[in-house]
Amino acid sequence: MRSPSFVEALAVGSLITPTAWAATIPTESYSPSGNNVSVHLDGFPHPNPTKSYWQDPPHRIASLRSTPDLPTDQLFDYVIIGSGVTGAATAFKLLSRNPDLSVLMLEARTAASGASGRNGGHCKTGDYKKIKQWVDLYGEDEALKIGKLEQDCVSDVRDFVHRYNVSSGWRDVETADLYYTQDEFEKAAAVVETVFRGQEARDHWRWPEISGAVTYAGHTQNPYLTVCAMLELGLEKGLNLQTNTMALQLTQVSGPSDTKWEVKTDRGTVKGSKVVLATNGFTPALHPGFAATRFLEPVRNQATAVRPAADTSQNPVFRRSQGYADFPGASGDYVTRNLTDDSVVDGRIAAYLRGVGRVTYGHRHWGEAAAAPVADWTGIVCRTPDGLPVVGAVPREHGLWAAVCMNGHGMAWAFRSAEALVEMMVEGAAPAWFPEPFRADRAWKGGRH
Ligand SMILES: Cc1cc2nc3c(=O)[nH]c(=O)nc-3n(C[C@H](O)[C@H](O)[C@H](O)COP(=O)(O)OP(=O)(O)OC[C@H]3O[C@@H](n4cnc5c(N)ncnc54)[C@H](O)[C@@H]3O)c2cc1C
Repeated sequence: MRSPSFVEALAVGSLITPTAWAATIPTESYSPSGNNVSVHLDGFPHPNPTKSYWQDPPHRIASLRSTPDLPTDQLFDYVIIGSGVTGAATAFKLLSRNPDLSVLMLEARTAASGASGRNGGHCKTGDYKKIKQWVDLYGEDEALKIGKLEQDCVSDVRDFVHRYNVSSGWRDVETADLYYTQDEFEKAAAVVETVFRGQEARDHWRWPEISGAVTYAGHTQNPYLTVCAMLELGLEKGLNLQTNTMALQLTQVSGPSDTKWEVKTDRGTVKGSKVVLATNGFTPALHPGFAATRFLEPVRNQATAVRPAADTSQNPVFRRSQGYADFPGASGDYVTRNLTDDSVVDGRIAAYLRGVGRVTYGHRHWGEAAAAPVADWTGIVCRTPDGLPVVGAVPREHGLWAAVCMNGHGMAWAFRSAEALVEMMVEGAAPAWFPEPFRADRAWKGGRH
């Protein structure tokens, strides 16, 4: 199973104009999976996604169907749609509270094969740098709740990995956001404590070009293995997982005493008292109400794993991790917007990512020769205008719940969002620590709760 190592570096893409590196690979989109595309329903998960570095080899539960036939006769307490970190955490937390619950999970492709199985491998905070903006928008109490949720979420994932001895290559690292321009650095430095300025930053990070660095504790991991471990623990507690089963339509059915839901899939129709959407950027395709709000925007992110030419095993620079807040030449927008097709990679972005390590780390650390590309892949994430997840009851649709759109930051938002969702569904109210600005119904209120 793959785990991050010192000699392999991951870069997350930028939509930029290719430069010298473009000569080495095709500039148009291409499919690294090499398979032929079959049917792709617009907006739904693509049947033939690119091959993610993390999912090679596939996990033992990748294609699991807990029961060979779809359990169409049973009324489940919960039907969860989506097996990424959000769906997996929701199932695990529900069943940990009450193992007598019946929980069915539908996954369109293989287990954890969405963004959770194809991301950059970082589990770290970092959005707290928006705290000033949150205070202005939501007031101090809510802003602090958002910041605390992010920190608690990362700590919870770390505790989970340690408690259950998950073999996902988890590493605690010193991480940093590196700033090339003084302006952007000063904005970030104004809200955080641990900063390296000017020469101090350049000496510490050994990169001559940067103006400053904001450092904090972060973690790297193989996210796919962490999420598959959550799923396996759920399975041990009775979760019924049905992979390669696409939810196509949701219908609310009113009975004499209770409301329930029918979920039509490509293998038959299942029933649940409650349905949870953990469908990330694919949510608008399945739920016309969400689509009509235009609040959730699916976007495609791209990543590349490369192996530097130099021997990096003893180099302290590679024991850290980092992101680039304002790297010159990159738009900062490593996405292609309004896309749910992760069956191709963009050749221009791949060219950039394959070459960017040598530029940012410098030839001295990276080596003179070009890095050996290990894999290029894409994944679909989801954005909201306010940059926050969408968690809670779907308004006017009793029994329908959502925890979607982690804004490309799911390893730091999802586990705690799932905790809050479970409490809402089971106890009837959100926990006191839950930030109101996360509430799902804001999608219908133009973005502000
Ligand atoms: C290239 C890339 C790099 C990233 N880097 C990082 C990072 O370093 N750190 C970080 O915190 N975050 C990162 N992210 C974002 C992070 O991966 C996501 O925020 C997180 O995985 C979202 O988890 P999720 O469970 O909500 O969604 P997903 O993992 O996308 O899971 C949703 C699941 O729902 C399924 N589904 C959707 N519709 C249907 C349907 N109709 N029927 C059945 N199943 C359905 C999908 O197939 C999918 O498996 C990155 C993402 C990408 C793509």
